[in-house]
Amino acid sequence: MNHLEALLAQMTLDEKLGMIHGAGLFRTEGVARLGIPPLRMSDGPMGVRQEFPDGSWIPRGLNNDAVTYLPCGAALSSSWDETVSEAYGDVLGDEARGRGKDVILGPSLNIKRSPLCGRNFEYMSEDPLIAARMGAAAVRGIQRHDVAACPKHFALNAQETNRLHVDMVADEETLQALYYPAFRAVVEAGAHTIMGAYNKLNGEHCCTGRHLLNEVLRKEWGFDGVVISDWGGVHDTVDAAESSLDIEMDVKYDFAAQHMADKLKAKIQSGELSETLVDQKVLRILRLMDKLHMLNGQARDPGAYNTPEHRAKALEMARKTVILLKNDGGLLPLSPKRARKVAVIGANAVTKHSLGGGSAEINALYEMTPLMGLHMLLGGNCEIRYAPGYVVPKKRTDREKSWQESSTKEQDRQCRANLNWVDVTEAEREAALQEALCIASQADQVIFVGGLNHDFDVEGKDRADMRLPYHQDEVLDALLAQRPDTVVALMAGSPVEMPWLEKCRALLWSYYNGMEGGTALAEAIYGVINPSGHLAETFIRELNQCPANALGEFGRTDTVRCREGVMVGYRQYDTEGTPVNFPFGHGLSYTTFEADGLRLNGSEVTCRVRNTGTRAGRVVVQLYLARDRARPAHELIAFASAELEAGESQTIAFRLDRPLPKDGCRLELGFSSRDIRETMDIA
Ligand code: BGC
Repeated sequence: MNHLEALLAQMTLDEKLGMIHGAGLFRTEGVARLGIPPLRMSDGPMGVRQEFPDGSWIPRGLNNDAVTYLPCGAALSSSWDETVSEAYGDVLGDEARGRGKDVILGPSLNIKRSPLCGRNFEYMSEDPLIAARMGAAAVRGIQRHDVAACPKHFALNAQETNRLHVDMVADEETLQALYYPAFRAVVEAGAHTIMGAYNKLNGEHCCTGRHLLNEVLRKEWGFDGVVISDWGGVHDTVDAAESSLDIEMDVKYDFAAQHMADKLKAKIQSGELSETLVDQKVLRILRLMDKLHMLNGQARDPGAYNTPEHRAKALEMARKTVILLKNDGGLLPLSPKRARKVAVIGANAVTKHSLGGGSAEINALYEMTPLMGLHMLLGGNCEIRYAPGYVVPKKRTDREKSWQESSTKEQDRQCRANLNWVDVTEAEREAALQEALCIASQADQVIFVGGLNHDFDVEGKDRADMRLPYHQDEVLDALLAQRPDTVVALMAGSPVEMPWLEKCRALLWSYYNGMEGGTALAEAIYGVINPSGHLAETFIRELNQCPANALGEFGRTDTVRCREGVMVGYRQYDTEGTPVNFPFGHGLSYTTFEADGLRLNGSEVTCRVRNTGTRAGRVVVQLYLARDRARPAHELIAFASAELEAGESQTIAFRLDRPLPKDGCRLELGFSSRDIRETMDIA
């Protein structure tokens, strides 16, 4: 009997049960007499969430829980650089520990199956390799600090509509190829915990799925960490006990009413269920606590939050994730010297996004808006005039405040879905547009900063369409007609239709990019940095191009059949030759690069990259495996990046996750899935 089993042997049934279900919204019960502390958890993926009391979803309103606000998952993966994700994890883990947490509820790793999913901003990619590598790197960073990562939501939580009960149906091949790899990768990276998804997968609720948890996660992948339910994702006591779920969490305050509390106790006392089921769970939790140095007064990393180093890292990360989508005629970068009168149009120039999005919300220590970033960069000799250009209507109610409390109740979920806006009149709209056109006509440089916000990129609700809200398309039409040299910068969590794209010469894209997102965007516009982000998802032109939506298999409330199989994202679009706005992997730079010299040496693939332009930049190279007449036509198998001075060349070695097939396929080297520079047949 080891020391943890000895501890377990001393525990009463009540004490054990206290450890396997919530005793507060974000904690379990400890066993003080045995020196076992409660397990303290916190959201989430963009930083450590504000403090909540045990029994209320109204934040405690403390003055000491503001934190470093980090780029969202979609932003991070746009770096195509695992060191960025690891640095992110390192900050997040340090801050979680600094705030006294044991488990940080992230990263969010679900595959983007449709552009409409409300939580896409949290997720890494439409591609499993990127999600796997970025996810694993984040976990390594987080867990350096005696804190457990809790990658979520396992598995196929690809929509918010009826997320608690929708049955996602997918075949084994699709799961293995697309929806499992990121989770398998974090298990292999040593993730101490994992969060079950709300939805069902092939008929079983994921949080208590015997097949998903007992067979796939534990037996096939050998996961010996702790499985935590999503909040309110457990619906049956026997399933909870017999599946290898370890901790049940809920959004409700009646903790004794949870399945793994009094109900489970009754079933054990009546002999219907065996106490050994509980013992296995408690032992796994004790092992977790031991790994985190929570027991026996062991020395433990104290962590730290809000350090200047963390803020510097947040800026560094943000700088690597801004994406230059289009730059006709080299309109960008703008010259700071020629910036005497600058017109900034669009509400996202001044909107702070940190305190939104659902459980990923962050009480940020500060958040640089793009307008602030521009002022700081251009200084006092430049006259910057701002006009919103469009009207963002006010909300009629602020039910949003404690949305999470009722997030598992049908009636209230509907309220969240049908947000009540105050009407905007045609006259108000016209006045906003005219004001913007007026300041634009008087400016030397015009910058539009629009996009989405967390009323659209949000947990608990999917988007209704891919359009920009608030008539932004009309504003852009008018602005680009008047000032074709307008620089367009969009901030959003997922792709939007761009009916004005032909007329737009320069387009920058930023996901929710953390507290320094506005700084990084301003620096990209004025060339202080050279943008180097690349899309980790395809920007399609219209919704119906997406197989899930075209098949009518997205956003259904009962059963969603993933009939498109693995043909998600570029796997579908590149195979079919679908015309898209921007392909997977796309991202421009203020310099130019070449890539060639593809070589295969045993299991190592190398290539040469060269900066052929006039300034330093970071190149991102991508390696795809292609097969003729196959579906999908090609798949990403490796990627790498390097900083190159003007004129500099470098040899890049690609890390492959598995051996290449012996023959009948082709390697493709490129800068996006549709910008292939060299191919090599594998004979
Ligand atoms: C979300 C999780 C989150 C949990 C706790 C749930 O609604 O789906 O991602 O970690 O709440 O806030």
